[in-house]
Amino acid sequence: MKLALLMLLAMMSGARATSPAPRPPMKGLILAGEPILFVNGAPQFSREQLRRVSAATREGLAKWAQTDHGRHLIARFNRDDYQIFVVEDGDERALGRAPQPAIGTMVSSGDRSKLKIYRLVLNPASAEVSGATGEIARGNVFSWPPTGEIARGSTGEPRTAADRMAVAWAAEMLHIDLYSRGIVLPHHGRADFQRAWRDVATQLGFPNLEHDHE
Ligand SMILES: [Zn+2]
Repeated sequence: MKLALLMLLAMMSGARATSPAPRPPMKGLILAGEPILFVNGAPQFSREQLRRVSAATREGLAKWAQTDHGRHLIARFNRDDYQIFVVEDGDERALGRAPQPAIGTMVSSGDRSKLKIYRLVLNPASAEVSGATGEIARGNVFSWPPTGEIARGSTGEPRTAADRMAVAWAAEMLHIDLYSRGIVLPHHGRADFQRAWRDVATQLGFPNLEHDHE
């Protein structure tokens, strides 16, 4: 009896070792071709994601995911009808960009039976080289008050590449949030966009960070 039980256990463990691990469904945020899993609000990166994605992008996501705004959006997009493909591109001029999707996607925004696909481009190289003060990406969407005001302690500012990538995640996911509600560009002039931006920038610790150039 005991031997039979041991044999059974051995067979079971053998079977477990050979059966392939179930693949998580391709939904929500997809990085390096795999969905990002979140446990208690913290991203759990796969080996492939750790290997192929910069630390700044991963740490930036972890920071944004800790904010109320980030938590809310991550939960909202964690659905079978959403795929957000996140790619890193060192040639991108800004820290990040979320291009407006095809008109078909915009039109199906309220339809749960239709798959909605969005793209988020991040440039961690630009986050590495941005200075500690001044514009985060010159000529693009992020700026904050002149250095003098920062020196007087009027505002927090992103100091590390991970801080800047957290800003990029927050900013671009805000655009995708509006796309997913059927709202086409331009977004920056909208009061609801600016209110949401002010909220998340404050939650990240950068209350005076501007996001206002189209
Ligand atoms: Zn923007």
